[in-house]
Amino acid sequence: MGDYQLKVTIDQDSGFCFGVVYAIDMAEEILAEDGYLYCLGDIVHNDEEVERLKAKGLRIIDHEDLKNLRNEKVLIRAHGEAPDTYRMALENNITLIDASCPVVLKLQNRIKNSHDANEKILIFGKHGHAEVVGLQGQTNNEALVFQDIAELDGVELPHNITLYSQTTKSMEKFYHVKDQLLERGYDLKANDTICRQVSNRDQDLPKFVSKFDKIVFVSGRKSSNGKVLFEVCRKHNPNTYFVSATNELEKSMFAAGDKIGIAGATSTPMWLMQQVKAELESY
Ligand code: SF4
Repeated sequence: MGDYQLKVTIDQDSGFCFGVVYAIDMAEEILAEDGYLYCLGDIVHNDEEVERLKAKGLRIIDHEDLKNLRNEKVLIRAHGEAPDTYRMALENNITLIDASCPVVLKLQNRIKNSHDANEKILIFGKHGHAEVVGLQGQTNNEALVFQDIAELDGVELPHNITLYSQTTKSMEKFYHVKDQLLERGYDLKANDTICRQVSNRDQDLPKFVSKFDKIVFVSGRKSSNGKVLFEVCRKHNPNTYFVSATNELEKSMFAAGDKIGIAGATSTPMWLMQQVKAELESY
């Protein structure tokens, strides 16, 4: 324990959700057997964890690389993929190791059914996000994706519309969007398809963060739910710091005797939060 004598506690509900655990377990099993494995996109939105797996032989590729790959195994991460990817894999004799999260697969299916029923589909999600690309792919890219209600200003929509959400969006924002669409007079079928692994944390975190002087929120900067959960922490404890790795911590952020809580996203590995804890305790 260093001079500062910081009292540090990790939120036991933070860390990987089951979808991410499943994908990483699957990758590690194959890496142990084959010594290498291709993965389409970052396996998880956390650079530290990606580096750990790269050192074990994980090779991250994009869709362009997939076009030129033949006769290999390729892992599909928890975010899922659009039907085009499965088609391309078949053509190239690629064995897909499908670690799409069951929650995402179920949502893809619901969207596909709505599309087959000729519904006008709106997806509240981040443009270009892998999960959203996979969802939109279920509709032949006809679904309209928006991340802010203002994007719908001046857009002509039919009277009957069906709304879905990317699994990692904020509940509060989703329900705000729903209310706004109802106010605009649409006949709306709204489906709250936010993953409970995210929304439950959204509800439990305020209790955790209010117990501490300061919060260190550990997450990759590309993580959508990281952004959502960080905002939740900051709202309920203004002394919240966002860090991606231990080298972003500064001793000057803290005072002697501070009680510190550590929390993270569904893509933050527990080992990284433990590293942060050990660093803080050395101050
Ligand atoms: S956040 Fe939910 S939907 Fe996304 S990977 Fe985790 S369990 Fe699956």
